[in-house]
Amino acid sequence: MIYIGNHVSVTDGYEAMGRHEISLGGDTFAFFPRNPRGGRSKDVTPEDIAALRALIEENNFGPLVVHGAYTMNLCSAKEEVRANSLEMITDDLVRLQQLPGNFYNFHPGSHTGQGTETGIEQIADGLVAAITETERRTGTELANTVLLETMTGKGSEMGGTFEELRAIMDRVAEIADGRPTAKLGVCFDTCHVWDAGYDIVNDLDGVLGEFDRIIGLEYLRAIHINDSKNDCGARKDRHEKLGQGKIGAEALKSVVRHPLLQGKPFILETPNEDEGYRQEIAAIRSLML
Ligand code: FE
Ligand code: FE
Ligand code: ZN
Repeated sequence: MIYIGNHVSVTDGYEAMGRHEISLGGDTFAFFPRNPRGGRSKDVTPEDIAALRALIEENNFGPLVVHGAYTMNLCSAKEEVRANSLEMITDDLVRLQQLPGNFYNFHPGSHTGQGTETGIEQIADGLVAAITETERRTGTELANTVLLETMTGKGSEMGGTFEELRAIMDRVAEIADGRPTAKLGVCFDTCHVWDAGYDIVNDLDGVLGEFDRIIGLEYLRAIHINDSKNDCGARKDRHEKLGQGKIGAEALKSVVRHPLLQGKPFILETPNEDEGYRQEIAAIRSLML
């Protein structure tokens, strides 16, 4: 059994997101706490958050997979971008303290020419600073797990290899003397790993085995389930509807049914409107173990 859902809009508030997802047949969802391109986050009342918490509990939802804004880049060469990103991630984490036990996923960033070593360093510094500042501002321990998303590695994008993700996590442990590592995990995006060159069509077990060796499967906490418009290793990052891309229905079915991935939240980021999501969710439910 897995949890399945898609991205929903925060425009009408938190409880409305839960109701919307239920109407699509889902039992988890993703949302951007602010406009995905950055900008101000939506004001939210404690009552609205409490209503969502009650709703997802009643309906046995799995953990939510909140998504940080695409514009965040903790390893930009520009100091101002790094500072803004740190403030965005901290502000998101502070807000999500009211919604404990869920995941906050973000794109590690692009080193914009600084090199991967600097990228790893700056992402780790930013993460430790964001977690520390969240705990300082709220006076409570971080209530959610922060996930680094597997990326395609296009351009100077970080996180295109399992080794890079491991290195970021190791560096966090080093700076923070081991402490926040337990609060980190990885979100496995099927389109991204495929585009990065991991052949989940012909060797899903091999790819998961490699993930286990390098990062540890206990850190794989959520899945973005997407098809891809491009070939394995293309490093393009163009999502496709399930079964209509180069990954294809058979391989995605194996992902959904994989014994090592049971019990986790799966989020659709396919190019769909509500009706398309409703159909994909139903199709995945019919495959569930
Ligand atoms: Fe993402
Ligand atoms: Fe994704
Ligand atoms: Zn993507």
